[in-house]
Amino acid sequence: MKERGQRAVLELRGASRIYQAAGRGTTGLYPTDLRVYPGEVVLLLGPSGSGKTTLLTLAGGLVAPSSGSVAIDGCCLDELSPPALQQLRASRIGIVFQSFNLIDALTTLENVALVPRFTGLRPREAMQKARSVLVEIGIAHLAAQFPPELSQGEKQRVVVARAIATHPGLLLADEPTASLDTENGLNITQVLRRYAKNHDAAVLVATHDLRLIEHADRVIHLSDGRVMEIEESVSTKLQAPILKQAPMTKK
Ligand code: ADP
Ligand code: MG
Repeated sequence: MKERGQRAVLELRGASRIYQAAGRGTTGLYPTDLRVYPGEVVLLLGPSGSGKTTLLTLAGGLVAPSSGSVAIDGCCLDELSPPALQQLRASRIGIVFQSFNLIDALTTLENVALVPRFTGLRPREAMQKARSVLVEIGIAHLAAQFPPELSQGEKQRVVVARAIATHPGLLLADEPTASLDTENGLNITQVLRRYAKNHDAAVLVATHDLRLIEHADRVIHLSDGRVMEIEESVSTKLQAPILKQAPMTKK
């Protein structure tokens, strides 16, 4: 984990979200403070309805907080004009939604190239970028396939490829292993972790999958829209005894 002297990629200050439905308010997230730093993987862990998706939508600038503020790279989102917010979201934030939202009529490569196209790259450059991302996460062989031809695990990797195609500094993933078996779930987790480390990106993952804990740097436990506990340096803690068990011996 990074030292706390550096600037957070994502910062929530007292950010809350109240949903107005049928004339009454439901609190999705109570005022929350949170910072996520470059290179770290932070899990939002909690049961259904605990506020994980609400927190991710605030972090991604998809909705405005009912109170408090959200900043990306020190830039407060509510101070941006709609086009500036859209531009920041396209270039700095990658989101892996629960639904895949892949376009069936486009190939894997074309689906992934859509995001760099939105940021203004020419078609050729966008395709090159998409190709290099497919190589980076080991699915170059799927480039010409269409989404209906892919397995769940393959689709999820394409969705992650699409989210990281512009190398965003902040990657948000909502239940990325929910529909996957153990092997595919582990693969996605490793892809997310490698992305954080290789690109010094902040990765925030909402999940109720306990298998992800050992791959996180920090775990934030949510319950009924409130942060209950923050566990620091989870992966370091878990790795320490393993290192002790297997001392290097010189022959
Ligand atoms: P999680 O992702 O942990 O399952 P959510 O963030 O989706 O939790 O939901 C947190 C709370 O906010 C729940 O009580 C949920 O019913 C409520 N909520 C979420 N989205 C909406 C919405 N669009 N309208 C009304 N209430 C909502
Ligand atoms: Mg959710």
